[in-house]
Amino acid sequence: MSECIFCSIARGKSQSTKIYENRNMLVFMDTKPITPGHLLIIPKKHAELLTELEDELVGELFRVAKKMATALKKSKLKCRGVNYILADGTEAGQEIFHVHLHVIPRYRSDGFWLHMPPKYENETSREDLEQVAAKIRFYSED
Ligand SMILES: [Zn+2]
Repeated sequence: MSECIFCSIARGKSQSTKIYENRNMLVFMDTKPITPGHLLIIPKKHAELLTELEDELVGELFRVAKKMATALKKSKLKCRGVNYILADGTEAGQEIFHVHLHVIPRYRSDGFWLHMPPKYENETSREDLEQVAAKIRFYSED
C-alpha cells in the first residue's frame, strides 16, 4: 500500500510549498487553490478523521488556523475574510484520508461559496429540530 500523501509531505518525502511548521503541525499551499493563498493545515501524525485526533492536537490545529488567518489578513494579499473547511468523511467530501483543515482566504466577489441543498431556504419546525436533537444529545454527553 502506498504511503499517505500528507504523511509523505510531513516527512519531506513529497514536495510542498511550506508556510509554517512546528513540532506537531505543518501548513502548506494547496496545489489547487480555490482562492489565492489557500492553505492546508495537517497534523504531522497520521489520523484519518478529526474524531480520531487527540483533543490536544485538535486544539492545536485551530490555534494554527488562527495564526494563519492573522498572517493572511496582514499580508499583501489583503484578504477580507477566511473560511475554515474540514471535510470529515467521504460523505463530507473528504478525498485525502489524513485530517486537513482548509484555510481559504476570501476576497470581494471571488465567486466561491458552498452549494446549499434545494430545501435550505425553508426553516425547520421546532418539533423537527427537537426530534433530531434527541438523537444526538445522548452521544454528546461527556
Ligand atoms: Zn497520513
